[in-house]
Amino acid sequence: MKQPFSIKTVVRPHIWNLVPYSSARDEYTGKVGVFLDANENPYGSVLSADHNRYPDPHQVLIKQKLAPIKGVNPEQIFLGNGSDEPIDLLVRATCTPGQDSLLIMPPTYGMYEVSASINDISLIKVPLTSEYQIDVSAVLAAVLPTTKLIWVCSPNNPSGNLVQTDAIETLLNNFNGLVVVDEAYIDFTAVNSWNQRLEEFPNLVVLQTFSKAWGLASLRLGMCFASPEVIAILNKIKPPYNLSGITQQLLLEALDQEEKKNELVAHILLERSQLADELNQLGMVQKVYPSDANFLLVKFDDAASVMNFLLEEKIIVRDRSKVILCEACLRISVGTRPENEVLMNALKKFEQNSVIA
Ligand SMILES: *Cc1c(COP(=O)(O)O)cnc(C)c1O
Repeated sequence: MKQPFSIKTVVRPHIWNLVPYSSARDEYTGKVGVFLDANENPYGSVLSADHNRYPDPHQVLIKQKLAPIKGVNPEQIFLGNGSDEPIDLLVRATCTPGQDSLLIMPPTYGMYEVSASINDISLIKVPLTSEYQIDVSAVLAAVLPTTKLIWVCSPNNPSGNLVQTDAIETLLNNFNGLVVVDEAYIDFTAVNSWNQRLEEFPNLVVLQTFSKAWGLASLRLGMCFASPEVIAILNKIKPPYNLSGITQQLLLEALDQEEKKNELVAHILLERSQLADELNQLGMVQKVYPSDANFLLVKFDDAASVMNFLLEEKIIVRDRSKVILCEACLRISVGTRPENEVLMNALKKFEQNSVIA
């Protein structure tokens, strides 16, 4: 059994001791005053709307509004410039380049590996099982004393499935570093977020995003939920004004539209099941994997030719055929009804062409 978890043991010592940049607005939180502290333009901006003042570095209003929606406290929330930002900050906060390691379970989201490479962190890869579940004993056996992070993606990209709860629990209970559960696709499932169990597991970190279900990919908005201690470390090392004022303003408006998000999700889920049915009727489709997300992993007789044909038709899907456990697979995002029809017509045309040839 592992030692009681202490956040200090996973944070790089110089970051633990770091005194963060204190922004001009940190010393005075009032709204009214004569603000001559931040070298802003006092007249306004070149655009008609006013963008001349630095935004709230702590995103207080957003966190107040988001906390009850997510069932957490504001101190358990970090907001980033996409999920990319907390992914990178978690690596930089915990892993010393050339020394520490992190563990991923392919096939999974590519950014974990990219972030490890950028930061010169060695990567331990323990593939998922053929059912795309965690091989718990292999993971625990592969963990080194230098391993600071384990990345879990649930629902997993690109396989689309949820990862078993008890496997994640076992990692949380037996690993002395942080277990990060990336829930980018959680809104497409009926399960509870792991963010409801933060009190139980001090080494749990949960990632979510506004890029998928909420339809805000262009704004770049990622969420990270963890203990206040972990969140404080991320806040300490983030660029002070990491979310622009416009982004914060739009997000405040978006948070009033949770119903709309749920409607969009319901549409996508309907389309997902129809698209899966239609794909299953094609002879060249070997398998449509069950999906808890807004995409389908599809195994074809000849994925490369299908991919090329679709590109000629200006239909872009994601080629995962060279990825471990995804041989011959394409990952297809669920589109609108007309988009899915265009896709299906193209695939039928491809199938007819190959019969004739
Ligand atoms: C799409 C996706 C994200 C979202 O990334 P953003 O930077 O927030 O747009 C995160 N994790 C996974 C696994 C994804 O597929």
